[in-house]
Amino acid sequence: MISPIRFKNNFVFFALVALIISCKPAQEKEMPAEKSERKIAVVIHGGAGNITREGIDSISEAAYRERLNAALDTAYSILESGGESSQAVLAAITLMENSPLFNAGKGAVFTSTGENELDASIMRGDDLNAGAVAGVKTIKNPILAAYEVMLNSPHVMLVRGGAEEFAKEQGLEIVEPSYFYTEKRAGQLDRVKRLEKEHGTVGAVAVDQNGNICAATSTGGMTNKKWGRVGDSPIIGAGTYANNKTCGFSGTGHGEYYIRVAAAHDVSALMEYKGLSVLDASQTVMNKIGDMGATGGMIALDQFGNVAMPFNTSGMFRGYKKAGESVVVKLFGDE
Ligand code: ASP
Repeated sequence: MISPIRFKNNFVFFALVALIISCKPAQEKEMPAEKSERKIAVVIHGGAGNITREGIDSISEAAYRERLNAALDTAYSILESGGESSQAVLAAITLMENSPLFNAGKGAVFTSTGENELDASIMRGDDLNAGAVAGVKTIKNPILAAYEVMLNSPHVMLVRGGAEEFAKEQGLEIVEPSYFYTEKRAGQLDRVKRLEKEHGTVGAVAVDQNGNICAATSTGGMTNKKWGRVGDSPIIGAGTYANNKTCGFSGTGHGEYYIRVAAAHDVSALMEYKGLSVLDASQTVMNKIGDMGATGGMIALDQFGNVAMPFNTSGMFRGYKKAGESVVVKLFGDE
């Protein structure tokens, strides 16, 4: 039987519990808006490297800004009209692949033997499905091939001739290897053979109205690469990763280091297991890569529209567009 005193104590106890429970929503309301509200957003990069005001003429600068703006506008309008994040990143990346400005698709760099071998990957954050191609020489838009691998094959990565055969079966546009020839990259091969470094990969991450994140990366790899070398860009967990619980990631830089630290997954893991913000997680992994003596950059985006774009080079072609804000495009380190 409950004595009157026990009853009084129980009453106080339950009243306290009720008070604590009723206070919980108030605490949640106090969280910063960017943590509690999902918002559509897209972030892109066009590679990190020796990008300085002195090193780029005004015509080239305008061309880069125009293409980055166009990629962001196209991707964002897909998200705004209710499209999926995968369609938004594909639109952004194909626009950059079709431009000779970036080291992806049309503007891919040359291997040591004067060929173009392209890599690309894509990953969805809702079901962790992913697709990638590596070392392809005749697929006009490798990112579309990566997407087909994700959707229409039981595999994650296809390489070289097999990937090209698969792309053909999927009805993708096949081109002569000479399509990827550009004077600029041919000249770069000569300079890189004399030891200059530059990273011009492209990447995009978007979050759609359903809160689904998708990340994608496309590249020609590193100039002067040899022996069928494959970098981080087509490797899920190294150059590309997406998980709705954490973030989407796309990297650019000296791929061997991104593979060794599993950069893309490392950012996601720091968020998932250590509770770091997308900004802190990205900076931590960027520092790790820098401490190993490597250069590059990365973009990452969470479901709340928080964007991270760290790099340790003099510049990185980059930009983002979030709901309710205007487009941001930057090239140099001091912007
Ligand atoms: N990460 C790419 C690779 O290593 C190169 C780049 O970002 O420019 O293949």
